[in-house]
Amino acid sequence: MTLAAYAADPKHSQGRRFDEKPSRFRNEFQRDRDRIIHSTAFRRLEYKTQVFVNHEGDLYRTRLTHSLEVAQVGRSVARALQLNEDLTEAVCLAHDLGHTPFGHAGQHALNDCMRDYGGFEHNLQSLRVVDELEEKYPQFKGLNLTFETREGILKHCARRNARELGDVGRRFLDGTQAGLEAQLANLADEIAYNNHDVDDGLRSGLITVAQLNDVALFGRHYHAARRDHSDAPDRVIVYETIRRMIGELVHDLIEHSAARLRDAPPRSIDDVRAADEHYIGMSDTVLDAHRELKRFLHANLYRHPKVVRMSDTADHTIRTLFALYLEEPARMALTGTAKDPAREVADYIAGMTDRFAFREHDRWLQTSKD
Ligand code: MG
Repeated sequence: MTLAAYAADPKHSQGRRFDEKPSRFRNEFQRDRDRIIHSTAFRRLEYKTQVFVNHEGDLYRTRLTHSLEVAQVGRSVARALQLNEDLTEAVCLAHDLGHTPFGHAGQHALNDCMRDYGGFEHNLQSLRVVDELEEKYPQFKGLNLTFETREGILKHCARRNARELGDVGRRFLDGTQAGLEAQLANLADEIAYNNHDVDDGLRSGLITVAQLNDVALFGRHYHAARRDHSDAPDRVIVYETIRRMIGELVHDLIEHSAARLRDAPPRSIDDVRAADEHYIGMSDTVLDAHRELKRFLHANLYRHPKVVRMSDTADHTIRTLFALYLEEPARMALTGTAKDPAREVADYIAGMTDRFAFREHDRWLQTSKD
């Protein structure tokens, strides 16, 4: 597969923090992807909430299946644009490694707990996981990934944190861009979750086809699918609708990005980084339709009373655990001698699965009552 001149080339990677011998059979980005898949944090994604808490049903997305869907969308687009598919896959698979248990409710609660201790950002935490927290190699902390994969994982970052990060934080200070594979992974994430949340939302019964038919992107494809397959069961029409929505978004993303890359072709990844704006993106019309769907999900699914009730439980669980561990670090089965005890607690909580967090919460509250 030929790479475009502006794609990330593993032979010209900016390298790893600790030098390693090249592999005989895998390029540097393939190695990164393999390290991510073998990490402990990756396996834990199986038991972390996307929208629905893991025990609410076996068919809902978890952060693991979400990450796989993001990688699938990302790889298709990367291949069509002659970008680096291995790098795109690595970034997509790693993008949520730093996510707390209980989805956004957990992230919000932990951020609040950490307010006086430097805050908590899940993108930065994903980078911390691969740079510091995974303990897999005798020679170094973390997974020692390439600059390009680390750059892609760090989607957002506050300036005060970017200053501490050296090379990988620089673009947040000087306003330059990430490589195209990183730009793409970000959009693959949005396309994946908007569509799978429609599926999970309908399955849960918290949102309905009637409501969704008022959303242009869904309504248009639903009516066309119904017209084309009048005998098909409702559930299949919903799948067909989602398939068509993903198709429209992905095709538009490929075509619009390809046109931009054709109009002002960057000669190299350095040109991409120095550009004023992103090259990878959807057309304005499709982006508007996509955003309308996103607003619908915010208003009707993520803020649905049943989801909010679970979010309140999650919020309470995280806050209680944070206070318990900070008060008595021995509860974490760690030494408690860290220079920054609050950060150690945040790392510990962020690494938890939903069910482990619930178990710990019950266990320590039980002991303090005894
Ligand atoms: Mg995600």
